[in-house]
Amino acid sequence: MPNKENLPKFIAIALLITLGINILLSFISQSAFQEIDYSTFLRMLDNDEIYSVQIAEDRIIIIPKADSATPIVERKMYYTGKLDYPGLVDRLYDAGVKFKPVQNKQSPIMNFLISWVLPFGIFYVFASMLMGSMSKRMGGTMSIGKSNAKVYVQKSTGVTFDDVAGQEEAKESLQEIVDFLHSPSKYTKIGAKLPKGALLVGPPGTGKTLLAKAVAGEAKVPFFSMSGSDFVEMFVGVGAARVRDLFKQTEKHAPCIVFIDEIDAIGKSRDSTLGGNDEREQTLNQLLAEMDGFDSSKGVVILGATNRPEVLDKALLRPGRFDRRVIVDKPDLKGREAILKVHAKNYSMDENVNLREIALATAGAVGADLANMINEAALRAVKMGRDKIRQDDLFEAVETVIAGKEKKDRVMTQTEKSMVAFHEVGHALASALQKKAQPVHKITIIPRTMGALGYTMQMPEEEKYLMTKDEMLAQIVVLLAGRAAEELIFNEITTGAANDIERATHLARQMVTIYGMSDRFGMMGLESIQNRYLDGRPVRNCSDTTAAEVDNEVQRILKECYEKAKTLLQDNMEALGKIASYLIQKETIMGDEFMEILNSVNNKSE
Ligand code: ADP
Ligand code: MG
Ligand code: ZN
Repeated sequence: MPNKENLPKFIAIALLITLGINILLSFISQSAFQEIDYSTFLRMLDNDEIYSVQIAEDRIIIIPKADSATPIVERKMYYTGKLDYPGLVDRLYDAGVKFKPVQNKQSPIMNFLISWVLPFGIFYVFASMLMGSMSKRMGGTMSIGKSNAKVYVQKSTGVTFDDVAGQEEAKESLQEIVDFLHSPSKYTKIGAKLPKGALLVGPPGTGKTLLAKAVAGEAKVPFFSMSGSDFVEMFVGVGAARVRDLFKQTEKHAPCIVFIDEIDAIGKSRDSTLGGNDEREQTLNQLLAEMDGFDSSKGVVILGATNRPEVLDKALLRPGRFDRRVIVDKPDLKGREAILKVHAKNYSMDENVNLREIALATAGAVGADLANMINEAALRAVKMGRDKIRQDDLFEAVETVIAGKEKKDRVMTQTEKSMVAFHEVGHALASALQKKAQPVHKITIIPRTMGALGYTMQMPEEEKYLMTKDEMLAQIVVLLAGRAAEELIFNEITTGAANDIERATHLARQMVTIYGMSDRFGMMGLESIQNRYLDGRPVRNCSDTTAAEVDNEVQRILKECYEKAKTLLQDNMEALGKIASYLIQKETIMGDEFMEILNSVNNKSE
């Protein structure tokens, strides 16, 4: 159905169209029928010019004779009023004219209905069907601004704080906003002004959008959501008009929540780009003006989300606008376990599934990754013909997300296979033989779609928030031990270590430039991190000469670690050989099998 606001406009259009149709129809019928007077009619009758006559209730329709070439439908027809002249029938009969009475069945009311109400009705039904199907496709949207950009409105989001796991601090800060939307008077009575807006800041996939929905769901208020990029168009001024419209809408629906996702699309600092961007600046200015203008006591709260807070315009962040910053960071171990639990509720899980173990194996994963992993596990379980998700499904899903799918059909030559096996066992041994390194969870030489020919999965016993210098060095040794094993056993090196080298170099560089862990530079900050919530790209803060020295220092660390890896493996050649040949046979071995072989070899030699 057409919505209420448009109804008058809509009716007017329908009426106009109906009127047009009627005028057109009468025009057509007038051109086909010509009125004549009764005397003309009688004269035509006398002159034998009439072919047939139809006598209706109020008029007489005359069809004249014409040369037989023209078909009846094209002949000009006449009509005249009806007189009370009883002799007419006889005269017609005598003249040999065909005649018949026609019943004018249409009463005036029927006439009106057919020519006015029916077209209007048809038009109305047709148009509302059209609009109905259109709005269904757009999913409850309404138009904003002069163009077709849509803002998504939901009466209630159906999401609560229970659906968001592992973000306790964020939830706590947002709880206040919920409370305010519930009972604004409690706050206004004492004179407190509530924050007009809060900015959710964090890496992608940590649940910012979800949290905003949960706030609306908890407060039971409508939720307006729009993405920052929806405002900005090619034409200058459109975005600003949309911002104005949005705020007009929200004032009508207060209390409510306005959520602007990816706000950096419009809120980018105004002086940061060369040349500037008029449209974006105007949109931002309008947003700033509107945020100043509205009265927060009515209960409109603006939530924004971004993963690049550092590019936002300072004006947007000052008190009175987005004065609250809610950090939605990557979840820690407990958080990951909680997120897994929330999502596991929707799947049927085997009872011996241990979500804590999965949480341990997924350090650095965000909520969206974890949700995805559980779904991958479910897909695998179905593929295996099971009706419950088992622990191994979950582990396989974790690996799929980290390293890609298993590629069982990739055929490796026997030499390649043994090279990969020794490489991986090199990692695993270096890891097991150093106290500061993380224990081995699994070693496999089944290739994966994301390029790895095999890999060693390490799993911490518990989550750590700090890493010591020794632990970092141990990690570098583990990373380089793959290449060390290749060199020791085959006296040859392969391309398989590319990723190891990249990661080891990155770690070593961080030690020098960010963590102040090198003797050469001490605690000098040589790099800073940009886009902390995205890729975390380092930006150099030092002169070119220093940068060259940094490279030397990094090189030195890597070299020392590589030597250490080689010594470690050289001292354990027997274990290396045994485990590698076992791995070539089995293709995948778990951490406990690995430790068993290692211990048996070591005990024998003691
Ligand atoms: P963001 O907006 O931060 O990029 P989203 O809120 O869109 O991330 O999260 C994407 C999906 O990931 C959510 O729909 C949800 O299924 C899952 N998710 C993310 N974080 C969490 C969390 N803390 N608790 C539960 N599910 C989460
Ligand atoms: Mg989002
Ligand atoms: Zn490797």
